[in-house]
Amino acid sequence: MNIAEKKYKRLREDMVENQIRSRGITDPAVLNAMLIVPRHLFVIEAMMDQAYMDYPLPIGEQQTISQPFIVAEMTQALQLRKEDRVLEIGTGSGYQAAVLSEIVSRVYTIERKHSLFVRTRKLFDDLKYFNIVTRFKDGTTGWKEEAPFDAVIVTAGAPDIPLTLADQLALGGRMVIPVGDQHTQDLIRITRTSGGFQKENLGRCRFVKLIGEQGWNDEV
Ligand code: SAH
Repeated sequence: MNIAEKKYKRLREDMVENQIRSRGITDPAVLNAMLIVPRHLFVIEAMMDQAYMDYPLPIGEQQTISQPFIVAEMTQALQLRKEDRVLEIGTGSGYQAAVLSEIVSRVYTIERKHSLFVRTRKLFDDLKYFNIVTRFKDGTTGWKEEAPFDAVIVTAGAPDIPLTLADQLALGGRMVIPVGDQHTQDLIRITRTSGGFQKENLGRCRFVKLIGEQGWNDEV
C-alpha cells in the first residue's frame, strides 16, 4: 500500500467510526463494506481529499454522491443477506452500488444520464466490480427481465412510490426510497408481504430528483 492509499484508509476508518457507527449503524456487513470501498475513487479528482467528509459532493450533471451516513442508513434499512439480488435506481458515481456489491451476490443498477452511465461503467471495470450489472435507461419502470429483486434502492427523490418498481419486489423484498417534494423527502421502506405492502417512514432526507415515467417530469 502506498502513502496515499494509507492516508485514505485512515480517513475511511475515521469516517466509519465517527459518522457511521457513532450514529447508530450496527449492521456489521454495512460497516465492513464502507471500510473497504475506496470512496475517494468515486468522486471527481479535484475533490478526492473531501471524499470522506460528512456531506454529499457534486459528481457532474448537477448530480451528487450521497453523504456517507445516508448511504449507510439506506443500506442497513435494506436488511441484506449475502445471497440477495439488489436493484439500484440512480447509479450516479457508483459508490452506493459498490457498497452493495461488497454485501450481496449481485447488484443491478440503472442510470438515465449517459455521461454518468459511461464513466461509472468504466470505473466498475477498472476496480473489478464484476458483480455489478449496469444499464442505461429510465429506472422508474425497473428492470423487468431480472425481476423479482430481494431489495430495491432508489437514490433519487420521487413524488410517489413507482408502482412498477414495487411490483418487481420478491415476497419479503424491501424497497427503500425517498418520497416527497423536490426539496425534501421522507425515507420510506416498503416490504412486500403476502397481504400486500407494509410501509414505514425512516425519517427526513434530501435527494436530487428522480426523473422519468413514474418520477418527476424531465427538466427543460
Ligand atoms: N447512488 C448514487 C447517487 C447519485 S445521485 C451514488 O452513489 O453516487 C442520483 C442519480 O440518479 C443521478 O445520477 C441521476 O441521474 C439518477 N437518476 C435520476 N432519475 C433516474 C431514473 N429515472 N432512472 C435512473 N437514474 C436516475
